[in-house]
Parts: sequence; structure tokens; C-alpha cells
Amino acid sequence: MTVERKHSSFDVARVREDFPILKQLVYGKKPLVYLDNANTTQKPNAVIDAIHTYYTSYNSNVHRASHYLGSLADHAYEEGRRKVQGFLNARYFEEIVYVRNATEGINLVVQTWGRKNIQAGDEILVSAMEHHANIVPWQMLCQEKGAHLRVIPIDDNGEIVLEEYAKLLNPRVKLVGIVHISNALGTMNPVEKMIEMAHAQGIPVLLDGAQSAYHIPVDVQELDCDFFVFSGHKLYGPTGIGVLYGKRELLEEMPPWMGGGDMILTVSFDGTTYNDIPYRFEAGTPHIEGVIGLGAAIDYLQALGMESIAEYEAELMEYGTQVLADIPQLRMIGTAKNKASVFSFVLGDIHPQDTGMILDREGIAVRTGQHCAHPVMQRFKVPATVRASLACYNTREEIDALTQGLRKVITFMG
Ligand SMILES: *Cc1c(COP(=O)(O)O)cnc(C)c1O
Repeated sequence: MTVERKHSSFDVARVREDFPILKQLVYGKKPLVYLDNANTTQKPNAVIDAIHTYYTSYNSNVHRASHYLGSLADHAYEEGRRKVQGFLNARYFEEIVYVRNATEGINLVVQTWGRKNIQAGDEILVSAMEHHANIVPWQMLCQEKGAHLRVIPIDDNGEIVLEEYAKLLNPRVKLVGIVHISNALGTMNPVEKMIEMAHAQGIPVLLDGAQSAYHIPVDVQELDCDFFVFSGHKLYGPTGIGVLYGKRELLEEMPPWMGGGDMILTVSFDGTTYNDIPYRFEAGTPHIEGVIGLGAAIDYLQALGMESIAEYEAELMEYGTQVLADIPQLRMIGTAKNKASVFSFVLGDIHPQDTGMILDREGIAVRTGQHCAHPVMQRFKVPATVRASLACYNTREEIDALTQGLRKVITFMG
């Protein structure tokens, strides 16, 4: 079929030039088609160079070293926090807490806010499409406290059933945790509405932004979420660095989690006083190169413009949805009206792993498996899916390569 070509102003060829890893041939002969972005994204030169510069010119510990290099590192580290603040449009600098990844961000909320506020008989609501990172920590807390984890159901398209959500909201519910964009289905959840509904009953909301932060503009003040987490490595930045945003009044009431250096004001054997937020939650020497790399990634994305990225990826998504629909054996898992950048599917009876292996020989990197979302697989009664996921450097030609690869798989295995 032919798809009318829209004219996006987004210059993807230029963007690709910024990502050295994309230029290679796989198995010595096939151009790399990287479609595993929901797993982790590739890094632009700007990020790689910023880390290189840190280690070649101002490597030092932060908040401790009173010398020239230390002050440069300190400055870069706190500048990084300002960049994250700007990127999320957080009201206050101290609402940005550095963690290792989205998973640790959620665990921090569970271990501090959760342990303080959750009691026996309380309920926590999560959706049926959550990543394990937004299920297991809450299960652990519920087990410890005698609280209950309740699940907001999803329909056959992979959309949250809002009427069921409304029914689940009640005075026993102490927190709602939802994924902003699902890594397993691509669903963009109606989080503004869901937050409004929770707030109407005084219930705070945590958003898992691991998939949204690099696909769409995020404004935490506009969303009015109470917590928001994301991982640097999915945002074109380094691994080992992530962010927890929390509203100031919530963070201020939260006790520390890990103890050690930097999170204290004074320490004696009679007792210790804790540092202010955000430092109270950042014990020990932090991931300084990670913060610097993440800052560079944010600068890079802001120069491209998150609006432009979202628009470009939406066009790619539409194109991919149309051309993949031409493969009769393909069953898309996740057909929500509002979707972003994820094609999760099964091909007839062919095992996703076989599909992934054959695609890999063609130079096409996808993920096969359960995408850290076992309940989603159970909901759709599939053992696993093939997932192709997009980033801002992907092209229509790469989607064509994917569809050609899938036709090859069918010929081979079908
Ligand atoms: C990747 C992902 C996570 C976990 O991210 P980590 O970097 O592994 O902590 C959580 N939620 C969603 C939706 C994800 O895609």
C-alpha cells in the first residue's frame, strides 16, 4: 500500500549523524537497524563528549572537595539538576532527586513515603499494564504492612478502563501508581484525567515516566503528578543515573532511606541530623559522570525540541502501524487510540524468539520476550511478543526493513 508522505521539518538524516553507533554494519554486512529503544536508546556525541571532557579535565568528587577541580565538578553536578528541573518544568530545584534509574526512584518512594504513610488495610492502585518496577516494590510494601495492591483493569486494546478506575478509588486508597506510556503496549494513558480523579479524593499519584520522558514533552506542573520517575539511559543518556521528581511538600515530609555521607548535616554517636532535600536522599558519592551525561542529553533534546521529536515519532508510528497491518499473520498487541513508539506483536504461531533471531541476522535489533510486564502477557494470553520500538533517529526506511524482515521470517518459518 502507499502511504501519503507527510512533510515533517525534522531532519532525521542530520540527527543520525550525531549517533556514531548507528553507522555500523552488523555481522559485517547489514546496516544496523536499531529498534530496541524502549529497552535503551543510543547516545549522541554530545553525551559521549561531555563524559569524556569530565574525565579528561575536571574529574573530582562533589560536595566535598574544596579545590579547583572540585568546584568545577560541583558546578556541573548542580547545573545538571537545573537542567532536569527545566526539562520537567519542576517548580523547585530541590524537587529533583538523583537515583540510579526509574526502578530506584519508585523504590525510594515506597521505602520512605510508603513506609511512613501506608498502614494495614490501606490500598495502593496500579494498572494492569505496569512494568515490574511499579508492581513488585508495592507488593513488598503491602506484604510488610498488611496493605492491598489493587489492579486497574485494561481492555482488549490495552487501554485503561476508566469506569473501573473510578470504582476502585475510595478512601482506603493511599496512592495511585501508573505508567505514563506503556513499554509493553505503547499505550499513552490519560494521566491528566486519572490524576484529577485521584486528587479529587486527596490521593497522590506517581507516574512512571520511563517511556514518556524521551518521547513527549513532560510538564510535571501541568500534569500535577506528585511523583515522576525516569531513567537516563532511555533518554539518550548514560546508564546508572535516573531521576525522582517529587512535590516539595511531599519530599520534605519523607524520612531518609539510605544513610551515609552527604545525606547528613551533623553526625555524632548520640544522633544524627539529616540534610535538606534533595541531598537527604542522595547518600554517598553520586554518579557524577551520569549527571553530566544526562545534562548533555537534555541539552541535546531541547535543541531538537521535544515537540518536534514527538511529532516526528508520531508520523513514524502512523506509518509503521499502516505497513505492519499489511502483514496478515501479524497480531498487534496493544491497539490503543493514543500510542507512542511501540509495536508489540506476534506473528502467527512463530515463536517471538525465532522471529527475533532471524531479524537479528538481517541487522534488525528488536526485543523479544515479556518486556518486564508478565501481567500484560497474561492479560493478552500470549507467552511473549516481538517488540520494535522507535526513537528520534529511526526512519521510514528502517520500518520498511522491518516489514521486509518479517516477510522473510514468515517465508522461512510459516
Ligand atoms: C524501562 C522501564 C522501567 C525501568 O527502568 P530501569 O531503567 O530498568 O529502572 C520502568 N518502567 C517502564 C515503563 C520502563 O519502560
